[in-house]
Amino acid sequence: MSITIAEKHSTAAKQYVQAVYETVSKRNHHEPEFLQAVKEILDSLIPVFEQQPQLMEAGILERITEPERVVSFRVPWVDDNGKVQVNRGYRVQFNSALGPYKGGLRFHPSVDASIIKFLGFEQIFKNSLTGQPIGGGKGGSDFDPKGKSDNEIMRFTQSFMTELYKYIGPDTDVPAGDIGVGAREIGYMFGQYKRIRGGYEAGVLTGKGIVYGGSLTRKEATGYGCVYFVQEMLASKGLSFNGSKVVVSGSGNVSIYAIEKAQQLGAHVVACSDSNGYIVDEEGIKLDTVKRLKEVERKRISEYVKEHPNAKYVEGCGGIWSVPCDIALPCATQNEIDEKDAALLVESGVKAIGEGANMPSTLEAIEVFLNNGVLFGPAKAANAGGVAVSSLEMSQNSMRLSWTFEEVDAKLHGIMKNIYNNSVKAAEEFGYAGNLVVGANIAGFKRVADAMIAQGVV
Ligand code: GLU
Repeated sequence: MSITIAEKHSTAAKQYVQAVYETVSKRNHHEPEFLQAVKEILDSLIPVFEQQPQLMEAGILERITEPERVVSFRVPWVDDNGKVQVNRGYRVQFNSALGPYKGGLRFHPSVDASIIKFLGFEQIFKNSLTGQPIGGGKGGSDFDPKGKSDNEIMRFTQSFMTELYKYIGPDTDVPAGDIGVGAREIGYMFGQYKRIRGGYEAGVLTGKGIVYGGSLTRKEATGYGCVYFVQEMLASKGLSFNGSKVVVSGSGNVSIYAIEKAQQLGAHVVACSDSNGYIVDEEGIKLDTVKRLKEVERKRISEYVKEHPNAKYVEGCGGIWSVPCDIALPCATQNEIDEKDAALLVESGVKAIGEGANMPSTLEAIEVFLNNGVLFGPAKAANAGGVAVSSLEMSQNSMRLSWTFEEVDAKLHGIMKNIYNNSVKAAEEFGYAGNLVVGANIAGFKRVADAMIAQGVV
């Protein structure tokens, strides 16, 4: 089994897809992450074009791979020493066939056009899979929040929003968080947007605090959703989280709530990480400590072993995949599992992978998992819970009411089950039974393609 399925198809569909990829790679040759995301999708869509050649005539792939709009802007701010700093801000409005552009903002020094475009492109298909009325977009900045004071964060986010507000709105484009953007940053940005606009447009951002229009369960949604998705994959083989050994990379919002749900389901979570290194606690990760260190004190994960001396800390985050486990949940960042890491995991007997981060496995790593019969939940399906609940937050804002934690959690659970079932069905229908990469890509693509055809060449 493979996602490089082009060999199987010697048809016009294959030539069409390859020609589009060539154009995209020429036009974006300096954007490796974007091209990686495009390649993964395009290869798996060949069977769709074979069955529905009219999609080729409509130029769907040519259009879907080109963002509707890309905005890049200067973000000037003054640091605590009175020095002027300049960062670059982005918003990529990729596709609005299904609804307003929707997707997070990432603040991280690695952010550039390629990273934001790969994230925005993925978001189109992920958002479609949720079944919610949301298009795909993404944004962010190369600003590094690490080590910045609260006042610096506020000045930066206010400056960022002072430009971004021109392009967003509850019915046009609705940003949220991603790496480096959590409740604090969303709060400051919402305040600035409200001040500039002079009106209370609650639905302009999601991931807001509960007291000013946020949704219960949004904070937990990506991590919980990822575990719900993996639960479905495991159940199909008569397996479960209960008693399983789990490794979760990262220790941010996605990881923390993936650990929480896995533990609630009886899993033994033994390792997590941050960008400096990883911890292994064979007694089981004490989540209260991780939450305090990361959510409240904003400290490094290495501090964990000072409080729990039986645990060990290892410098360098990449080594976490050498910790043997039954289930691995990569919840840190893109390309954190390469071919070698994947081989290590397979050797140590891993049974399932659930991608909590965006594109955490390289194309080569995915091949290793699929070729070795590992259950593989690709990011756009497995981590769609966050944006799904963002969409539920938009609904609640429009209706000016709020649902309970249990109500939202139940809707999230239902959405994740649907994503799983639709991906399984699409994979079967197009001759790739069991391959959720192909299944999720096709299921996500078809809804967008149908809407694009209905709306004409725009
Ligand atoms: N950043 C998250 C994602 O990658 C959430 C986006 C949102 O809630 O809009 O899907």
